[in-house]
Amino acid sequence: MARSGKEIERDGRDGVGPPRTKWYLVRATVLPEATEAAEFAFNQMDCLGTETNVLGEQVSSTAYVIGYFEEEPKEAAIHQAFGRAWKIFGTRGDPVFSFEHFPDQDWLETWKKSWQPTEVGSFIVAPPWFEIEARDKTLVRIEPGLAFGTGTHETTRLCLEAIDDNFSDGMSFLDVGTGTGVLTIAAALTGISEGPFLALDTDENSIRTARANAELNNVDRIDFGVGTIDSDTPRFDFVCANLTLDLVTPILPLLLRKTRVVLVVSGILEEQSSDFERLIAGEDVCNMQTKTLGEWLGYTIFAG
Ligand code: SAH
Repeated sequence: MARSGKEIERDGRDGVGPPRTKWYLVRATVLPEATEAAEFAFNQMDCLGTETNVLGEQVSSTAYVIGYFEEEPKEAAIHQAFGRAWKIFGTRGDPVFSFEHFPDQDWLETWKKSWQPTEVGSFIVAPPWFEIEARDKTLVRIEPGLAFGTGTHETTRLCLEAIDDNFSDGMSFLDVGTGTGVLTIAAALTGISEGPFLALDTDENSIRTARANAELNNVDRIDFGVGTIDSDTPRFDFVCANLTLDLVTPILPLLLRKTRVVLVVSGILEEQSSDFERLIAGEDVCNMQTKTLGEWLGYTIFAG
């Protein structure tokens, strides 16, 4: 069983008043290969966290993904989020939904205990409440709120690894789709560069969360912007784009043009590799490394 959560530091109370006694739970029964798409769909909604169970190991087996909510979610919103996720991931098979109340105020406490810090190269990404000794590692504290990027996801880990391997002294850094800010904050915390660091996200809430996380890590040298890369964006030494194939496709030429030294593209599924490599073949790229984690690919592209 895998659990992930987006909301933290809640103790089952609404700040004032009596303890919360009810959570809303939506269970999506899906094909095993659709769990990632289902988690993505729930995470696009105001869900507090997800839990994934795959029953059996046969191709024909089923899986279910549960989304936990504080407020009762609207069915129309669920169908919309899943429709979008199914399109992005190219997923087969209609999900079947069931709805329950979950009268256990301790769920978030249980979840908090189950979210372990993630160690990637010289970085450790940990939630704020987790007592941890950084040793000789760079400790990145992330409070995800409603944004993507706890550090545990394969695509984020591939980016952190690429940063660890290739981000070097004095480089500037651009993060297109910053989510919680995890990648830019990690790069800034290495202390090997004064920047500039620029973190962009089309989602205003993500930028708010990312700013709060920068503060949490005492990093004040990152510029944040709601929006995306465009022709006015200056060139940066190191550029990260942890975006799905459909999102990265229209901006790939721009990403390459704005990269001075290294471009990292993560968020590509293994089955999409030929599509991505076809795109790249149309560009002037001669030095590229590919890494795989689970079903995800991370590309590190070196400017010629
Ligand atoms: N960088 C984080 C989060 C990646 S999730 C990590 O590695 O964990 C992708 C983020 O990109 C989301 O927050 C989404 O809102 C944002 N996004 C989607 N399309 C975008 C675009 N075209 N330009 C900038 N941000 C985008």
